[in-house]
Amino acid sequence: MLKRLVNELRCTLLIRTEGPVLVKSGHSSVAGPDMTPVRTYRGGRLEVYLPGSSLKGVIRSHLEKVGRTLNPGAVCNPFLKPESIDPTAGGSPGFSEVACSEKFQARKNGKMRTQGGRWCRSQEDLEDTPDTVYADSCPVCRLFGSNSHIGRLSIGDAYLTKSYSPNVEPVEFRDGVGIDRISGGAAPQVKFDLQAISPGVEFAAEVLVRNFECWQLGMLLAAFADLRDGLLRVGMGRSRGLGAVTGSTESLSISFLGALPGRRSGEVWGLGKFLGDGSYGTVAEDVLVVTPSSERQHGLRSTLTYEGDALQKLQNAAIALFVERLQTWEVPAAMCWPGDWRRA
Ligand SMILES: [Zn+2]
Repeated sequence: MLKRLVNELRCTLLIRTEGPVLVKSGHSSVAGPDMTPVRTYRGGRLEVYLPGSSLKGVIRSHLEKVGRTLNPGAVCNPFLKPESIDPTAGGSPGFSEVACSEKFQARKNGKMRTQGGRWCRSQEDLEDTPDTVYADSCPVCRLFGSNSHIGRLSIGDAYLTKSYSPNVEPVEFRDGVGIDRISGGAAPQVKFDLQAISPGVEFAAEVLVRNFECWQLGMLLAAFADLRDGLLRVGMGRSRGLGAVTGSTESLSISFLGALPGRRSGEVWGLGKFLGDGSYGTVAEDVLVVTPSSERQHGLRSTLTYEGDALQKLQNAAIALFVERLQTWEVPAAMCWPGDWRRA
């Protein structure tokens, strides 16, 4: 089913640095600063950019926190392995926080049975299909993906919106000072230079989501709203004031392929509506009704464009749906670790 393309969301995310930002390149220069921002060749010359993977990571970890606040235990920690959990200790972190991909792995190799635990699925069900992997993934893994499932969201690299002359690159130098662990003062001879992107520089990244559920649109727009309010930081040195950014989206378009009998104007159909049978852990009535700024048919596609007031309404409706979905999210039985798994 998900080999088909049912719906698609596109928008441009504008990101403006509000303070110095450093997404560090892997190497320091020989004669220059110890830390420099990542650069890429564009239009025949090197220029600074913000890697899409960094942006996606920052948005993901922000949404993990939001998800845990709405419903503790609903969202996994992608770095937590089952071995780190002591079921006898109780409390946090609990098994519900183990990375989805680790749980799928444990399920696949039958670890539960050999450990004397009780597994919730019969042996033949242990073979995961794209349907069960998607359905059993936590809300964040469903959108962002994991080692077990390709995510639905892609964020491209963010490039400068204005071109700068190579002689006045939008970067600045800053001094970093090592702190003496005994005196608390500046450590002698522990000083490093870093070069960061200057404040007030604007970048643009293309965002694409395919085969999304309507609540996932709300999840993404909730992150964008927090980005607009300056609540997310990008790159290194976030605890010492680097990485302040704000983000905005002027226009968002949602496309459907082919004729959709029964779809009324202004209806956004989510993946669940296309499936119609609740498979993939979706709901059949996966529809948002918000009048777009414009709706047009071109070739095989119908495209709804949301701007200004319409975009604000879409955002409010989608975020409300996301909050409701998260608050009522139930971790599937097959992702719950039996309490006695270590007892033989
Ligand atoms: Zn997960």
